[in-house]
Amino acid sequence: MLSKTLLAEFQKILGQENVFSDQADLVTYSYDAAVLDQVLPAIAVRPTSSETLGRTVALCHANGLPVTVRGAGTNLSGGTIPVENGVAIITNGLNAILEINARDLYAVVQPGVVTATLAAAAAQRGLFYPPDPGSQAVSTLGGNVAENAGGLRGLKYGVTRDYVMGLKFFDVNGETVISGSRTVKCATGYNLTGLMVGSEGTLGVFDEIILKLIPPPAHQKAMVAVFDEMQSASETVAEIIAARIVPATLEFMDNFTIRAVEDYSRAGLPVDARALLLIEVDGHRAQVEEEAAKIESICRRKGAGSIQVARNAAERDKVWEARRTALSALAKLKPTLVLEDATVPRSKIPEMVGALEEIAARHTLTIGTFGHAGDGNLHPTILTDKRDQHEWERVETAIDEIFDRALALGGTLSGEHGTGIAKSRYLKKETSRATIAYSKRVKAALDPKNILNPGKIFA
Ligand SMILES: Cc1cc2nc3c(=O)[nH]c(=O)nc-3n(C[C@H](O)[C@H](O)[C@H](O)COP(=O)(O)OP(=O)(O)OC[C@H]3O[C@@H](n4cnc5c(N)ncnc54)[C@H](O)[C@@H]3O)c2cc1C
Repeated sequence: MLSKTLLAEFQKILGQENVFSDQADLVTYSYDAAVLDQVLPAIAVRPTSSETLGRTVALCHANGLPVTVRGAGTNLSGGTIPVENGVAIITNGLNAILEINARDLYAVVQPGVVTATLAAAAAQRGLFYPPDPGSQAVSTLGGNVAENAGGLRGLKYGVTRDYVMGLKFFDVNGETVISGSRTVKCATGYNLTGLMVGSEGTLGVFDEIILKLIPPPAHQKAMVAVFDEMQSASETVAEIIAARIVPATLEFMDNFTIRAVEDYSRAGLPVDARALLLIEVDGHRAQVEEEAAKIESICRRKGAGSIQVARNAAERDKVWEARRTALSALAKLKPTLVLEDATVPRSKIPEMVGALEEIAARHTLTIGTFGHAGDGNLHPTILTDKRDQHEWERVETAIDEIFDRALALGGTLSGEHGTGIAKSRYLKKETSRATIAYSKRVKAALDPKNILNPGKIFA
């Protein structure tokens, strides 16, 4: 509970209508998409201008109040679970696209702009904003930058990091820091933008984001390759990459996920397939045709039973829409869904797919696997019920084993979902004691009172 005086100070800055302290309201801001315990903040506030955002951060700092910024709350690592007696800052009142510059190919946005809204606005101007997390219809650009979100197009077009040209953010004192620029090149000062991307709200609060836009591809071709064996599908991924072809998208779905998605979206997916690869190539027409033909031939050589090519934009959209529903489709099946994103070098995908099957069988768990196979970024999704204590213990062991196998294959704990609370205790497995100490020194220097999203990244 905040004191009445402090509550009144927040109300003075933000207006009474933008300060929430009722239990019922606070529950909304007590969780995100990770399977973790809820924590209610003391208050939630909704700034509607840069000025009030900065003053809010300054007020929190002056009073030692922990701050957790919340975009859409779709992160999968506990990044927006607030601290008891802390302040949740909601960014949906900061949702303006401030500029789309079609001559110099960039956009400037406030952090609460929804990812798909910017992509659509850019498309209207004949431009392309490629990062497309599965949550793009609701996730915010502030959240994407703070998590360095990836998406289906990561393989060819990269992730959010590759599009952030500059930032305006508030430091812990509520003072404005400017990094990067609207220019293609910028070598002025430290690369603070690089430090802030993926910082999960622990080093500063984004106020404005400059994002690169690019010309859209002239032509696209999407196809679905159907396999009778998981291993041949995963070997196909490795072969396509080894053949020096970089599809825009190269996604994998196992049979369990195919059936769940088909049941949910009726997209016409072959429910008997052991595994599917959903592939899209884009670029100039001749290049697209040549690459599509090469991919078809690799798929057939590796044993694909059939390859369906989308005949028009509507069929293509249907394929990608179906893929984007994978998580929601699986979530319907059991009370608890644990989505992991351990990532391995692409050539190790067949081994990782095999390891996931083996881990699921040994612990008698249901694991649906889908994901950005072309990036080596699989999403093994464990369907369970956290109330079943015996099964939950097996789930926790399986998660440990998934991380161990990914790291043993030269991989990483997280391809795109961040560390948050969920993975903080594993950090040392991938890095080193000195890496963690170094990172903590950076955090302590920039946030000496540890009020910016405390408890995230470091256990
Ligand atoms: C169905 C579904 C599909 C998904 N698919 C993908 C996917 O394909 N790829 C992927 O990468 N992720 C995916 N995710 C995870 C999630 O959507 C991303 O992490 C996304 O970037 C989170 O955006 P958000 O607006 O919900 O951020 P939130 O969850 O609200 O916040 C995420 C982090 O950003 C910080 N933050 C937010 N705004 C600011 C700000 N203004 N300043 C400083 N810090 C800030 C928060 O404190 C928190 O640490 C998916 C999630 C779901 C539920």
